[in-house]
Amino acid sequence: MELKPEKIRYLIIHHSATARDTTTFEAVKKYHISKGWGDIGYHFFITPNGKVMAGRSENSIGAHCQADSMNFKSLGICLPGNFMTEVPTVEQLSSLLDLIKRLMSKYNIPKENVLGHREVSGASTACPGDSLQKWVSNFRGQKDGIDPSMIAEQVMNHLEQAIDKLKQIL
Ligand SMILES: [Zn+2]
Repeated sequence: MELKPEKIRYLIIHHSATARDTTTFEAVKKYHISKGWGDIGYHFFITPNGKVMAGRSENSIGAHCQADSMNFKSLGICLPGNFMTEVPTVEQLSSLLDLIKRLMSKYNIPKENVLGHREVSGASTACPGDSLQKWVSNFRGQKDGIDPSMIAEQVMNHLEQAIDKLKQIL
C-alpha cells in the first residue's frame, strides 16, 4: 500500500532485539516475509559497520509499529542489536544521525516526532532498548543532535571489548 510523502510525519527507531553482530538484513527480511508482511517491515536497516540498507521503499506503508496507526504516518528505521543488553556501534549511531537529519529535512519532520518505538502512544514494547532509547531522547534534547556523552560511552565500550580480547590472547 502506498505511503504518500505528505503522510510521513514521524520517524520511528527500532532495534531487532537480537544479537547485534550476527543479525543480518537478509535474516530479518526472511523472518518478516515468513510472518506474511510481504517484505522487511522497516524502511531502513543500519548494520554494525554503519551501512544503511534500504528496506521497503519510502513510499510503501511499513510493518513496524501498529500502535497509534504509526505504520500509516511514519518511516521505520531498525538497528540490529538487543539494546537492552548491548549498545549500538559508533558507526551505527553516526549513520543513524545522518539518516534522521536527511529524512527530517526531506519530509519536513520536526525533531519532536523522532521517536523510539516504546514512546509511541499505545505501544507496549522495550524497543529500541534502553541504550538506543537514551540516544533518541538525547537527540531530541540536543541542539545539533550530537550527544557527546553517548560517544564517550561508545569509546569506553570499544576499549573494554579490546581489553577483553587482549586478555584472551595473553
Ligand atoms: Zn520496534
